Amino acid sequence: MTTRVVLDSVFEAHDPGPMHPESPGRVRAIARRIAHSPIPGVVLGAPRRATDKELLLVHAPEHVSGLRELAGRRTQIDADTVVGPRSIDVAWQAAGAAAQLAHDVWSGAASNGFGVLRPPGHHAEGARAMGFCLLNNVAVAAAAVLAAGPRRVLILDWDVHHGNGTQSIFYGRSDVLYVSLHQWPLYPGTGVLTELGAGHGQGFTVNLPMPPGLGDADYGLLFDDLITPLGRAYAPDIVLISAGFDAHESDPLGHMRVTDRGFAAMCTAVLELAGEVCGGRLALFLEGGYELEALANSTHGCIEVLAGARRETFAAGSSSAARALALRVKDVLRDALPRQLLGERPWRRALGLTGH
Ligand SMILES: [Zn+2]
Repeated sequence: MTTRVVLDSVFEAHDPGPMHPESPGRVRAIARRIAHSPIPGVVLGAPRRATDKELLLVHAPEHVSGLRELAGRRTQIDADTVVGPRSIDVAWQAAGAAAQLAHDVWSGAASNGFGVLRPPGHHAEGARAMGFCLLNNVAVAAAAVLAAGPRRVLILDWDVHHGNGTQSIFYGRSDVLYVSLHQWPLYPGTGVLTELGAGHGQGFTVNLPMPPGLGDADYGLLFDDLITPLGRAYAPDIVLISAGFDAHESDPLGHMRVTDRGFAAMCTAVLELAGEVCGGRLALFLEGGYELEALANSTHGCIEVLAGARRETFAAGSSSAARALALRVKDVLRDALPRQLLGERPWRRALGLTGH
């Protein structure tokens, strides 16, 4: 069993400026933590640049060429999104590393993996960089691996912010089930319950907008009640995670109360799900997480889980707010999913939906 971790100093070369929370120090903190406490079974992998073919599976040609023109310059794309002289090269390395890691997990070259990537990706839309993100790493990985054989990819996004970019890229498709757990309201303002996909993608986007302050036990309830059953019903061929750690109780940008243990429990839950439905094929990609010690410890904990060195459970005692959210999500799914989808895919049974 091999857990591949893509961790490379090239990801420290994207420098959005000294006051920016999405700092090179994030990757350095994770590297230091892993060097301090090595994890048996982990093999480090090197990144590579994404190809145009991979990027154009999810990004508009004008977006790719527009970013390329920024190479070597320092400029601000929007209030949050800044590039330095090496950022474009680093973004290409992050997207390429994501695609390669998904391929390696799909092919069995690695059992599972974690890409410690910068810049993050899940806010980047098909034609727009935003929210610290230039290219959508997890979307590139999903589309690239789908081109290699799998029929269905589950993307679970547990970053505290909604992954508007990933959602919009796959909104009309049924070969990617996008499930997001995020604080709401919060940047970027998308990800309400009624955003469920459209056309062929109707029912293949599921949003769990959470009130601030929820913690490990609440996430545990939502995994047990919704995420794991949905994953079983969808039966993906590979599971990809947008792994942000900004729902951590110490994070300066989020207002949730997840602990290091909670993230390890989430990783345990998705590893068990992947073991059940797709031979354990699971890859995590770093998104947010801005308190360096929490980020390093939570990432280390997830890699321990991937490598089989740790198994974690959620704390008990979920709040009424989490239980109410689970019920609301089920109500929306019951009312909004087309009848044929409820019949063709076993959402109804998986979620305990009865009546209509
Ligand atoms: Zn985030």
